[in-house]
Amino acid sequence: MSMQDVIQSLENRYPHQPEFIQAVKEVASSISDAYEANSDYSKFKVFERLTEPDRVISFRVNWEDDEGNIQVNRGWRVQFSNAIGPYKGGLRFHPTVNESVLKFLGFEQIFKNALTGLPMGGAKGGSDFDPKGKSDNEIRRFCYAFIRELYQYIGKDIDVPAGDIGVGGREVSYMFAMYKNLTHEYGGVLTGKGVGFGGSLIRTEATGYGAVYFLENMLSAQNETFTDKRVLISGAGNVALHAAEKALMLDATVLTVSDSQGTLHDPAGFTQEKIDWLKDQKAARKPLKDYVEEFGGEWLAGEKPWQIKGDIAMPCATQNEVDIAEAEQMVANGIKYVVEGANMPLTIAAIDYIREQHVHYAPGKAANAGGVAVSGLEMSQNSVRQYRSFEELDVQLRQIMKNIHDDAARATQHLQAESTPCIDYMAGANIVGFKRAADALVAYGVLN
Ligand code: GLU
Repeated sequence: MSMQDVIQSLENRYPHQPEFIQAVKEVASSISDAYEANSDYSKFKVFERLTEPDRVISFRVNWEDDEGNIQVNRGWRVQFSNAIGPYKGGLRFHPTVNESVLKFLGFEQIFKNALTGLPMGGAKGGSDFDPKGKSDNEIRRFCYAFIRELYQYIGKDIDVPAGDIGVGGREVSYMFAMYKNLTHEYGGVLTGKGVGFGGSLIRTEATGYGAVYFLENMLSAQNETFTDKRVLISGAGNVALHAAEKALMLDATVLTVSDSQGTLHDPAGFTQEKIDWLKDQKAARKPLKDYVEEFGGEWLAGEKPWQIKGDIAMPCATQNEVDIAEAEQMVANGIKYVVEGANMPLTIAAIDYIREQHVHYAPGKAANAGGVAVSGLEMSQNSVRQYRSFEELDVQLRQIMKNIHDDAARATQHLQAESTPCIDYMAGANIVGFKRAADALVAYGVLN
């Protein structure tokens, strides 16, 4: 079957999984030459195998709310591929979670994790549980109930979940406690644990910092620096706020963050004090717009950040947050670099448009790999029962992001068109990640 036939059959089989089909098409669009160059890939049906998860575990989660009512949610774990290491990827708790979203995220995770150069396979999981407005007791009861169902399918050498949207240190700690309680085993079964009971330093900062380290390499490839660059960031979660912090540390000016209610624009730029305030505000689950009373700036209710003039855009909120109209807005407002902190924040049409306009583009699976990379370092620290220092891990993270940048750039060097200064990081990341997983499948023969 050709890659086109595989996509066609996926579309026929999974017509209700548009996000998953979108992620597969995005990868397929850049790997066809690499695929044809190695006849083993089609002989061993590598594309067909990598687009069907090893398994999808789905289950029901019953839990009790504060009023004593029984609530029922759905939970999933998509174990996509353990070709190059244990299944690895986050858990997302959000009402939009369904099998399509988790299959797209799990599929992307195969290539992202391979790009880090660490031995990790790809997986994703989560629930349609909405943490918004839930008490701490409800969150705890839900996390316990979720792991009570999932624990039998995970393990430190089998499948190692972590956080994602709606799942942070608090939730991981509750889930870790329930796993430990049920199995009597203290191991690195989840990453993103609290520092002091197995968690790694810099894990919280890693996705945002890593995306900015990736950008650092993009800028230096164009002989540019952060100085005088205006950065627009969407989102106000862990990724967005740490991207803002690192961009500021490296001398850029960060003008925006946003949430589902609107955009916060500070024309004076965020300082460390302002970012710390934002972190506290978010941790207390209070509204972003209170910032204006504290520090000035403007609150753009219901708006996204792309109407502001800037040089660099970092979408750090969620999938498909930037459509063609917003991509056009970015280009019209002077954006020269788009770095994806979120997973698949640009639609395919938006990606095509900014690439046509010669905007430097870094796809999420390369640019946001810093989070899972430090998760990989957390796993190795847990295995040897030792902790590394913040400084040591920061050096490792920065080096991993440079390696991903350089590997992706090298993979497409021979295709570099003279008509554009842009490096094709999208094709490069897809090719490098794909080959690492695909070569393992060929070596294994028929088994995964
Ligand atoms: N959810 C993060 C991601 O999208 C991190 C996953 C992990 O640390 O396992 O890569």
